[in-house]
Parts: sequence; structure tokens; C-alpha cells
Amino acid sequence: MLLTLSPLVSVGLSLPSMDGSMRSRVSPSMMAATISAPASTADDAEAQRAAFDEVVMGTYGRFKMTIARGKGCYLYDTDGVEYLDFAAGISTCCLGHADPALAEAVYKQMRTVHHVSNLYYIPQQGELARRLVASSCADKVFFCNSGAEANEAAIKLARKHATQELGIEKPVILTMTNSFHGRTMATITATGQPKYQKGFGPLLPGFDYVTYNDVEDLRAAVRRTRGLFGLGKSRLAAIMLEPLQGEGGITPATAEFIAEARKLCDETGALLMCDEVQTGMGRSGTMWGHMQLGVEPDVFTTAKALGGGVPIGAMLCKARADIFQPGDHASTFGGNPLASAAGNAVLDAYDERGVLENVRQRSVQLKAGLQDIADSTGAITEVRGWGLILGMQLSDACGFTAAQLCAACLEGGLLTVPAGTTVLRLVPPLVVSEAEASEALDKLRAAIASCSAKHAQS
Ligand code: PLP
Repeated sequence: MLLTLSPLVSVGLSLPSMDGSMRSRVSPSMMAATISAPASTADDAEAQRAAFDEVVMGTYGRFKMTIARGKGCYLYDTDGVEYLDFAAGISTCCLGHADPALAEAVYKQMRTVHHVSNLYYIPQQGELARRLVASSCADKVFFCNSGAEANEAAIKLARKHATQELGIEKPVILTMTNSFHGRTMATITATGQPKYQKGFGPLLPGFDYVTYNDVEDLRAAVRRTRGLFGLGKSRLAAIMLEPLQGEGGITPATAEFIAEARKLCDETGALLMCDEVQTGMGRSGTMWGHMQLGVEPDVFTTAKALGGGVPIGAMLCKARADIFQPGDHASTFGGNPLASAAGNAVLDAYDERGVLENVRQRSVQLKAGLQDIADSTGAITEVRGWGLILGMQLSDACGFTAAQLCAACLEGGLLTVPAGTTVLRLVPPLVVSEAEASEALDKLRAAIASCSAKHAQS
């Protein structure tokens, strides 16, 4: 493969071939320049992507675009093309991009002290924990770096609680079909979708799966934890669920289903655990998604929006589940001064800028607009979701997939994310304005028209 490289790496070098046989002809510094230099032609950009793919593992299917910068709800690629960002780093950049207050807080903390071990007291972490506890039914917080890690912590907590507090020898955690809890071994086991588990067996023992929103199936699964004929002592350690399934297609739990889960946990002493990695931090229109359903979990997890895009995750629990002792669980980076400062800056913004109220108002506007698009195009059978986590269910007859619609949106300058093959997900920054929401609706309408026209021609 012979490619013309950008001016910075000068003339006619051959990039490494797929089998790496020409690797020696490109020095690491040349490779770095190839990947990071501004691309001046389409060929340059293609060469940069090829150089990137040579050294970064292929775990993601990526669009052929490179983001250079962002401002508010907009991103700009290396050609200066503007995109209205209704993906927000997948429900993460709650304050949008390059927020001055978040940037200042992180910069200030970086210049003071950015990381110390959890061997010492970290005031920024304590302050963030205090505010998270004040915002919820929880009493205690454990900090980590991501959603999967927060869920790992919850799974460990549930097992220890079952063993130590309930005297269960082989605890069982119930999770839901179509759920998503992360990519570590424990969290792919918890994830009730075989496609995420395939090829990674053996999975962890001690998990069983319930059809989401099926009360009878939930009761039957709890009965199964009592052994043959459902007569023994329950081995139920926890019921774990997303209040609204994000990756699984923007499907809220029903109030009836989660109330039954609460009841079964109360009866057995097991923990009700909500994965709020995507729904938490105000995205649902209330601070926590479970508040939409009128139920208090014993444990819940969060990440994504917690640091506004600065990596941080957390597991929160009620006093009855606060059983970890020193040495039981840990994270080197968890809740370090830098990440905690970001979390506090996000909460400052929520307090000062009426972010939750904005989520509710924009939600009403977007839902009405999406319903209008659904009614006039016939391509969408249902608009669903809470706050600013909204999904459009594509009709069987529309002739295009969520991925194709997402690509058409991108072409028209709107970033979105599929949630499964037939649902398009809209998860803008929580500070999105009325004008930006209108612009997104216009772009979406145009993208649907373009997909429909292509389908009609094919
Ligand atoms: N849980 C839910 C509900 C999620 O949506 C995600 C990510 O999309 C995760 C867990 C995993 O989070 P992370 O990618 O930060 O590990």
C-alpha cells in the first residue's frame, strides 16, 4: 500500500502493510507525525487513518471523521465541518464541549495537585461524595473510573453482602435481558445480551437472567434461587437493572416491574441495584433515573456524565449495604483530586445554570418534534425515553436501519447514536438550547427524507 503522506512526514514513504512487514520503514516519530498532523487532502486524511489503524486495536467501528475541537453543543472536524452533537460522547458530555467553568476547574486542580493515592484524605472527593449523597437516597460513595468498574464494585458488594450478611454460600445476581452493564468479565456476564458474551467464556457463575419488565418471569427467577421446587432458602444476592435500558433500545422499566423487584429484595434481604451509568446525573430529567419510577435502590452506579467527560465513576449505596472494609475494594485513580474537581464543577453548573429544568423543557420540545416527524413520515413507530435520553423506533417498513439513519444524520451535520439495529438514540448535552433542539429536529427530518429516498430508489 503506497500512500502520499502529509507534508510534515514529507515524501513517498510506504506505510506499514497489514502484516507489518514494512514497519521498519516508518520510524515511531514519523508514525506519530503521520497520525497527528493536520490533513490537507482527502488522501492525507486516509493515510492518517491507516496509520492510526496500524497501531490502535480494532475494537471500534469508526466513522471516517476526525474531530478537531468542540464548543458548546457543536463539534468541528479537521476540515472545519460543523456537527451538532446529539451523541455527547455517548451520554457523557453533559455540559457540552470546552465548557469554560469545567475547563477552569480542571486546570486549577491540575496546577494544585491532580493525583494522590487513596491512602490519604482527598477533600475534593469528600465534597463530591457529600453532594451525591445529598442528591439521592444513598449514604455512602465509592469512586472509580468508569461505568463497568462501578458495576464491578456493585457486583462484588452484592456478593459480599449476601455471603456475610445473609449467610448465602453461592449467591445469585439476577439481571435483565437486553441489558448492558459494561465490558469486563463480570459486567459482560451481567449483560443479558449473548452478542457481548460470545467467545469470552467461561462466564462468571452466579448470574441468572430475567425478561425485562416481565413480572412473572422475575418472580420465577427468584423462586429458582430457592433450589429444586422453590422450597429452599433463597440464594438471591441482588436484582440489578437499568431504570431505562440505553444500549438495549431506550426502554424504560415499568413502575410495576421495579416495584416488584423492590418487594422481592425486601422479602429476601437481597439488594436492589440500579445501573445509572447512562441514566444518572440528570439525563432522565430527575437527578437519578430511578426517581422516575418512585423506587429507592440499595445500590446504584454512575459514570458517563459524572465528570462531564473527565473519566470518573461511582457506586453509591445505602447504609445497610455499606459493608466494604479496607482492602475489600480499591482503585488507584478512583476519586482523585482531578476527577473529583471535574465532578464538583459539573454539580456547580447544575446548581447555577438550571440544568435539570433545561433537560425537562428540551425533552418536551424534542418529544413533540419527534412525534411530529413520526406522524408525518411514517418511518417511526414510537418515540420513547425520559428527559434527554430519547429513542426513535424505526418502522419495519421504513427500509433503513438505525446505523444508516445515523450515517445520514452525520452527513447532514448531526451526530446521533444507534441503540440496537432499529432505534436511533438522541442524547445531547444537557445544556442544549431551544434553537439547537429545533436545528436537530430539522436535520433529523432531512436525514429521514434522504434515507427514504434512497430506499425508494433501491
Ligand atoms: N452501564 C450502562 C447502562 C452503560 O450504558 C454503559 C456504557 O454505555 C456501561 C455500563 C459501561 O460504562 P463504561 O463504558 O464507562 O465502562
